[in-house]
Amino acid sequence: MNVLIASRAGGNDLRAIPSVIPNHLGGHDALASGGRTFTKIDPATGRAICQVARSTATDVQVAVEMAKKAQPAWAATTVVKRGDILRQLALLMRDRRTAIAELVAQETGKSRKDALGETDAAIEMGFFVAGEGRRFYGQTTTSAVPNKAAMVVRQPLGVAGLIIAANTPIANVAWKAFPALLCGNAAIMKAAEDTPLSAWAFGVLAREAGVPDGVYTTLHGLGEEAGAPLVEHPDVAVISFTGSCEVGRWIAETAGRRLAKTCLELGGKNPLIVCDDADLQNAVTWTLGSAFSNAGQRCAAGSRIIVFDVVYNKFKQLLVDAVGKLKVGTSDTDDYGPVINQGQMDAMLAAVERARAAGAVVLTGGHRLSGDAYGGGYFVAPTIIEQVGPNDEISRSELFGPITCLYRVESFDEAITLANDSPFGLTASIHTQSLNRAMAFIGRIQSGVAVVNGGTYGSEPHMPFGGLRQSGNGWREAGTQTLDVYSDLKTVYINHDPGKV
Ligand code: NAD
Repeated sequence: MNVLIASRAGGNDLRAIPSVIPNHLGGHDALASGGRTFTKIDPATGRAICQVARSTATDVQVAVEMAKKAQPAWAATTVVKRGDILRQLALLMRDRRTAIAELVAQETGKSRKDALGETDAAIEMGFFVAGEGRRFYGQTTTSAVPNKAAMVVRQPLGVAGLIIAANTPIANVAWKAFPALLCGNAAIMKAAEDTPLSAWAFGVLAREAGVPDGVYTTLHGLGEEAGAPLVEHPDVAVISFTGSCEVGRWIAETAGRRLAKTCLELGGKNPLIVCDDADLQNAVTWTLGSAFSNAGQRCAAGSRIIVFDVVYNKFKQLLVDAVGKLKVGTSDTDDYGPVINQGQMDAMLAAVERARAAGAVVLTGGHRLSGDAYGGGYFVAPTIIEQVGPNDEISRSELFGPITCLYRVESFDEAITLANDSPFGLTASIHTQSLNRAMAFIGRIQSGVAVVNGGTYGSEPHMPFGGLRQSGNGWREAGTQTLDVYSDLKTVYINHDPGKV
């Protein structure tokens, strides 16, 4: 089986998907050591796309050994040079952006347009991080002792284990791989099992850009078989993980036993507050984007829409009308595509059923979309639910699908209290014309990102992203803050003697 990608963009390597997506190990394509594979399913059709290397602890062991061997020479190059190579990688990605976006579209079922937007964001991250090679700031300061210089510089950690989710696959790769490499680490990427294609493409281009053999590895496989051994390996100095709270908690416990550094970017249950003075049409537009774009598969999805009582009915009607016009499918004129796999779809629909059984009212959706247009794809109708309590399961657990709940509040205070009443604290948004309310919201909301008159999503490469409570463990990705994840500090004292000049 050799599936051809229709678009011909730039180089020659990304147009044909290999019948088995290989690992990228030590500069070579490699099957998993046991020769085993798993099947990658197209979420838009339910049909197989290709087989993928099913790596195990043996492959992780080989990857770590190669990474350990290659890392010192990589760390010994200047950070400016590393930035140059990463800029070259970003340029190659830009040359082949259409081909990469085709892979993203094929493996996720999202539209070419959305896949291209995500690819461009990944490329921007590359350029941003490459530029940091010429800024890699430490600190110089004073000493209490005469003729003693004091400064702080960054140093690499060694081998970085990177584990990602499938929702925005090429951006997820870029968010971790670029800064991990810039900081002088060797990096091992455990791709999400649902999105092996874009991770494979990044590895191909990294090699072409001149990232030395062994410095960047792509391993494919299932979480427990290929991800867990990376977390457990004693020579992996930092684990940077994007995914569910459940797995994040296990990673923190497991890596914590050997005191390894972990950066955990986890889930969200993000509130969007609609005040009585909001521009309701704008609030509807941003609610649609927050709740339904990317089929709601965003850690930053708006899944709790908190609306002032006096505008509740009007807002609800506008929102339901707007949802009635949403189009679900894989083309550029559709608003969103399928969810990533059958298991996720079944789980989110079961959660809606439990809420319904407990008395919730499902205003729209709540079911899988079927019929000729949808075939065997995992398409879920845009779902709005009301009459749920703040402590109900559906209010507190992340569904990671096109499903959102409406809540009615009497006042600003009640809205903030409800917004903060969550196990998560990733992003939050408020819609108001009042500067005073906006500023009070920014001050009181317990989240890593706060937005006024916009969506709960939409991060930029030069801005830090991350959350409180169960949304993470305090680190930030993107922004210059991401360099703190992948480097450690070295405090330097230099004693000198002016008498010996
Ligand atoms: P998941 O935790 O099931 O899987 C994520 C990754 O972890 C996959 O690569 C998987 O193979 C791997 N994995 C699974 N079990 C593992 C184990 N025992 N050891 C090591 N690795 C293991 O998450 P998912 O359902 O695929 O992704 C959705 C989640 O990701 C949501 O909770 C979402 O909010 C979160 N997410 C967070 C951010 C953020 O920046 N905060 C961004 C995107 C997605």
